[in-house]
Amino acid sequence: MKNNIQLGIRASSTCGLSFDDIKVPESQVLGEIGKGYKIAIEILNEGRIGIAAQMVGLAQGALDASLPYMFERKQFGSLIGDFQGMQFQYAQIATEIEAARLLTYNAARLKQEGKGFVKEAAMAKLYSSQVAERASSKAIEWVGGVGFTREFPIEKFYRDSRIGAIYEGTSNIQLQTIAKFVKSSYTK
Ligand SMILES: Cc1cc2nc3c(=O)[nH]c(=O)nc-3n(C[C@H](O)[C@H](O)[C@H](O)COP(=O)(O)OP(=O)(O)OC[C@H]3O[C@@H](n4cnc5c(N)ncnc54)[C@H](O)[C@@H]3O)c2cc1C
Repeated sequence: MKNNIQLGIRASSTCGLSFDDIKVPESQVLGEIGKGYKIAIEILNEGRIGIAAQMVGLAQGALDASLPYMFERKQFGSLIGDFQGMQFQYAQIATEIEAARLLTYNAARLKQEGKGFVKEAAMAKLYSSQVAERASSKAIEWVGGVGFTREFPIEKFYRDSRIGAIYEGTSNIQLQTIAKFVKSSYTK
């Protein structure tokens, strides 16, 4: 995959790795032979907390890049950030970012304390990526036409947000994991 064809996170290079018929000297084997899938999945579980944090930061960045503009620019004699129709939107997004941040901190805390964190990491990653997409999409609208251009960083936030629902397990896979835990707490 050529990196410049990615929608977003273009500073991160992406390529496929192939391990067909590879021979690894015994001294270089990581973990136990035959347990690679389990190790990979465990790494993914932890990595989800990192992706959740990335998405919280992205959502906050979109808010930080758009709100100052709304408190400078006037339309119809008022600051655009003072219209109630706008206030309700950024209040909603600010609340969602706060919720995503707390889900992420909670998953990180559980992991740090050596407690079960798989469900919480999946919830944090799922929700933070949804919030990042909504926040960056709204932020483009909030600053009007310039939000659609590269004069503002917001279009980049929007492009970058889309990977949150894909890597480290797609949103459907997070939902599957969460559903498994929810079911097990209601069944034997
Ligand atoms: C920029 C970028 C960076 C990446 N970095 C890494 C990396 O560092 N390491 C790494 O290992 N991988 C990496 N990946 C791969 C990434 O983790 C996968 O693309 C992702 O897990 C989805 O797998 P897939 O592309 O095969 O999609 P598929 O599995 O084919 O999924 C396609 C669609 O089908 C849905 N789907 C699939 N199975 C089910 C199911 N059982 N139930 C419901 N829906 C389902 C998915 O949710 C998705 O919507 C990267 C990908 C990208 C784009």
